[in-house]
Amino acid sequence: MTPTRYDAAIVGAGPAGSTAAILLARAGWSVVLVEKQIFPRRKVCGDCIAASNFALFDALGLGDRFAALAGPALRRVALWQGAAALVADLPPATDPQHPWGRALGREALDAMLLDQARRVGVRVMQPGVALSLSGPAGDQRLQLRDIQTGEQQGVRAPVVILAQGSGLHRLADPGAARRPRRGSDLLAFKANFRGADLADGLLPVLGFAGGYGGLVVAEQGIATLACCIRADRLDALRRASPGQSAGAVVEAMLKRDCASVARALQFAQRDGPWLAAGPLDPGWRGRLGDAPFCIGNAAGEAHPIIGEGMSMAMQSAWLLCQHLLRADRPTGARVTPAQAGRWQADVQRRYQADWRRHFLPRLRLAAAFAHLAMRPALSGPLLALLQRWPALLAWGAGQVTRWSGKLDCAADPGAVTHLAADAASRRARPARALTQP
Ligand SMILES: Cc1cc2nc3c(=O)[nH]c(=O)nc-3n(C[C@H](O)[C@H](O)[C@H](O)COP(=O)(O)OP(=O)(O)OC[C@H]3O[C@@H](n4cnc5c(N)ncnc54)[C@H](O)[C@@H]3O)c2cc1C
Repeated sequence: MTPTRYDAAIVGAGPAGSTAAILLARAGWSVVLVEKQIFPRRKVCGDCIAASNFALFDALGLGDRFAALAGPALRRVALWQGAAALVADLPPATDPQHPWGRALGREALDAMLLDQARRVGVRVMQPGVALSLSGPAGDQRLQLRDIQTGEQQGVRAPVVILAQGSGLHRLADPGAARRPRRGSDLLAFKANFRGADLADGLLPVLGFAGGYGGLVVAEQGIATLACCIRADRLDALRRASPGQSAGAVVEAMLKRDCASVARALQFAQRDGPWLAAGPLDPGWRGRLGDAPFCIGNAAGEAHPIIGEGMSMAMQSAWLLCQHLLRADRPTGARVTPAQAGRWQADVQRRYQADWRRHFLPRLRLAAAFAHLAMRPALSGPLLALLQRWPALLAWGAGQVTRWSGKLDCAADPGAVTHLAADAASRRARPARALTQP
């Protein structure tokens, strides 16, 4: 069967994939987005969204819906480790309209973004899976399978964007082999609780031997507890509690190792099962080369201790779309493969340079912070010092927030909005406004 042609094919409808799909469709591109899971679905994530993204929600036409759904404004951070509990004010973001981060469960966030993609004309294949990718840069083919019917379909597009999250990149790197499990691998867990006792607007970050985590109140007062734990620590905990599920031993350990977690969850009821994922693979995946484009965790992943993964997902989608829409993409029947390949390589080079500039410092900061939090022998004396000098704690909280990119957005929503409107009018199609529908 002849493959269906699109201007862009996107794999994965997390925050990265849906954002890119909305932006390109609004610019008049024909876009297919394939997602293997049925939404709404829960996902292992701490659910905190930095204020630096709220202007992006506004520009996607989702600002009001996000504001109506999300949990309270997060104005203070706490460090919880052992018996210690330190609290500091967070600095406001630079956008005076959106000074504080908020939390929203992934079941609501991802569904909201994907609905908007559908509304602006993206063709969504869900549940569908991308099986293979072939073809040169500028003329790629994706083989997709409808999970419900089993039917396969070929798609051909000059631009293929991988937004399928972390894990093995079989599509971009078919030779990649699963590496053996290591004791230092980080496994991720998440559970929701009703009735948690957590001060309004407080965002606790947890440190414990072999791991770290966070607790936050998201929509409808539901608290999200998410953490990462080394595989060897989890194995030891499970050996000590035979017959118990991994989630149950993680919950018991968090309550034992962090006194404040036990207090906050004393009368709380777990809402749904523990979810697990991993191992995580923090780092930049730049080695994946010229084709296809990668955004979100598919491009690179920060240790989740700084809660910046969704920011990097959405903002990398904006950065890539800015380059795709700015560059004069050669179109028409007379475009040679060499021209298409040169265009792709040029966009890729500029996008990757932007990615490294904005996000590599976050990856490094997150790694340093994560390794400290996982080693109470190192972080314990530091916490004691911060407890004695609260001014140092307030200064440190401000610096970490600033360095992790939470205060400023890497993308310029106004510029992309203009480029999209220009591109749409060049195509002689009615330009769809990047505002509330
Ligand atoms: C414990 C933990 C806590 C975290 N806490 C936070 C936090 O508080 N704040 C924050 O900003 N970030 C946090 N993160 C990070 C955040 O979850 C990720 O960075 C974010 O989900 C990345 O978004 P994405 O769109 O790149 O990928 P994803 O959200 O992973 O979406 C990828 C999508 O692609 C689909 N897919 C995969 N393969 C295929 C295929 N072959 N075909 C079709 N579809 C496919 C998947 O089903 C999925 O829906 C946390 C992560 C962890 C592990």
